[in-house]
Amino acid sequence: MRVVRTISEIGEALEPAADVGLVPTMGAFHEGHLSLFTAARQESEVVVVSLFVNPAQFGPAEDFERYPRDEERDAKLAEEAGVDYLFEPAADEIYPEGYETWVDVGELGQRLEGEFRPGHFRGVATVCLKLFNIVRPARAYFGQKDAQQAAVVKRMASDLNLDVEIRVLPTVRDEDGLALSSRNAYLSPQDRVAALALPRALATKDPAQARELLRGLDVDYVEVAVLDGQRVLAAAVRVGKTRLIDNIVLEGDPR
Ligand code: AMP
Repeated sequence: MRVVRTISEIGEALEPAADVGLVPTMGAFHEGHLSLFTAARQESEVVVVSLFVNPAQFGPAEDFERYPRDEERDAKLAEEAGVDYLFEPAADEIYPEGYETWVDVGELGQRLEGEFRPGHFRGVATVCLKLFNIVRPARAYFGQKDAQQAAVVKRMASDLNLDVEIRVLPTVRDEDGLALSSRNAYLSPQDRVAALALPRALATKDPAQARELLRGLDVDYVEVAVLDGQRVLAAAVRVGKTRLIDNIVLEGDPR
């Protein structure tokens, strides 16, 4: 595996005709990330993982500064998963001085997460479009854990006629049901026990029952939503200082 830090280097490394699978990430890898790397490895000639903690998708009061970072461990895990290139650009490689252009996501980016994280999906869509242009993947891999993000990226790919297939893979959970997330590292042992209410609430597949089970936690939303044509029960809660999101598919494709 090669670690590549500049756009020109990754451009030179990839053959124009190569069949590339791209997995965009913010690092602090766990089994959820690894499941995407494995799928990309099975389906693509060349696997590129991007590791970029994208400042544009964090609000001013959010956790950008303290987001978990461990480059060495991540490089080792990516290599073991058969990744060919780990693309780790610096912030000014992606947003150089004078940067001015953004993807404006419509209503889909305003509700649910968008309501509590204004500008979040503008940052997500913009960085994904840039990564797609830089890496030119045939397919890009996303997790159902961030169902609204996957829906926003799919919508963008369709609306902007991007030549990339968006693959969405199931949420990987810990044995106790908690969806794996880099942010779980923030949870104290007591927080972690409290956080288990989230998967338990979603497992009821019923918004009223879910609300009941989440009583006592600081709930941003718990609601049924249609994302990418699929009904899900989605929720965001705060446990201590940690904000967690999760969702469960209610019907249709059991992704
Ligand atoms: P992140 O590094 O958190 O931005 O996540 C990178 C990709 O991994 C996104 O497409 C996420 O949806 C996906 N992902 C994160 N957690 C999980 C999980 N528990 N199961 C499956 N995919 C995940």
